[in-house]
Amino acid sequence: MLLPMLAILCALAAEPEAPPAPYETRELQLQLKVRGEQDMRDWLAEKLRARRLKLVKPGPEGPERIKLRDLPLEAVAAGLHAVFFELRDVENDAMMQLSDDGPMLPVSVIWRGRELLVTVGEPWQAPDPGDLTPDVMRERYGVGELREAGSTWNPRSLQLLDLALSRLRDEELAVMRILAFDRKPAAKPEYEERLGTAQQGRLAAIYAQEEGEGRIEVYDGAFGAYTHFVGEPEDPQPMSLMILLHELGHAVSEQLEIELFQAMRDLAEVHNDRGEKLEKRVVDRDGRARRLDGKTLAEIDAELDRESEVIAGMRAMLDRLSERRERGSAVASAFAAVDGVRPPTWYAATSEAELFAESFALYHADRAALERASPAAVAWFDAGEHRALLREDLTLLAEARALLD
Ligand SMILES: [Zn+2]
Repeated sequence: MLLPMLAILCALAAEPEAPPAPYETRELQLQLKVRGEQDMRDWLAEKLRARRLKLVKPGPEGPERIKLRDLPLEAVAAGLHAVFFELRDVENDAMMQLSDDGPMLPVSVIWRGRELLVTVGEPWQAPDPGDLTPDVMRERYGVGELREAGSTWNPRSLQLLDLALSRLRDEELAVMRILAFDRKPAAKPEYEERLGTAQQGRLAAIYAQEEGEGRIEVYDGAFGAYTHFVGEPEDPQPMSLMILLHELGHAVSEQLEIELFQAMRDLAEVHNDRGEKLEKRVVDRDGRARRLDGKTLAEIDAELDRESEVIAGMRAMLDRLSERRERGSAVASAFAAVDGVRPPTWYAATSEAELFAESFALYHADRAALERASPAAVAWFDAGEHRALLREDLTLLAEARALLD
């Protein structure tokens, strides 16, 4: 009666928010050597004039005019990148570093209409990775196993996973109690093939369901150089946060399917087993083939009635589980149906599942950016709509599990 589970694959390339080539620090350093600082400034000035663009920065009353000479060179380079690649209506958050040992400066550039809005943060340093262990993480968040296959959960990767999980709410974490986290060097070729040649070798992480198990595979590419950041320039967060939250978003919308399937399978087994036994007992009772074990017939009939009621209750729960499973992922489709929800990134436009995963990740990593791109999404998450759907499923699961005890 139960169908085998199909594998669901969702993946994210290492640079989800940058459709043109990601900013190459080395390339920039080379440009600087060749052109020199003044030439870089003149180059941007010329491009701004050609496009009749005003250079602005955020002010208390809205964007304020700024002079090109007041911008640090890192911001000039980030502005050039945005104008050069025609990144209109795209938020380009780059972590700029002009020499290998120089400071990293977060710069956000948004080209909207006739304005190039440039926001510069304070020099940034990667925080100390600390000494987290997989056991601490499991205890802290109640998630499934953290496994290692060719790559390790070292303190830095754990620090970033900790950062991602720390942003989640109770219901979101509750769906991850049997979700496994695997560290591997890279995706297997089969996964890369499924996702098209354009992304080969660039997969950062995936969420997969296979053989009745849900897992997030995190590859070495998820912890690459800090060329981009998420969040505001005043509080920049590594792209790894976005990558991990994206896959956690897939888990939020898909992972309970596994538990629902398992509960249904276990319950069906117990239901069928008890049903068979009951049938035998009814036959025994009618045929008076057995002794009554000191009980009266009335007592035995009452017992059989009670057992038949329990079995009917299980049957009803199986119907509810089956009906729930037929509806598929409730969260992602409910989200896609919300009026006014727009894809906040190009990748979010590729499917309903990616629309949810990208919006979910941005909501937790860069709420302000989601607010700018898709205010209806922020309102939906703020209202706790997805958490209400998760609670419904978690309650259903708890009721199903209670019948098995
Ligand atoms: Zn995805």
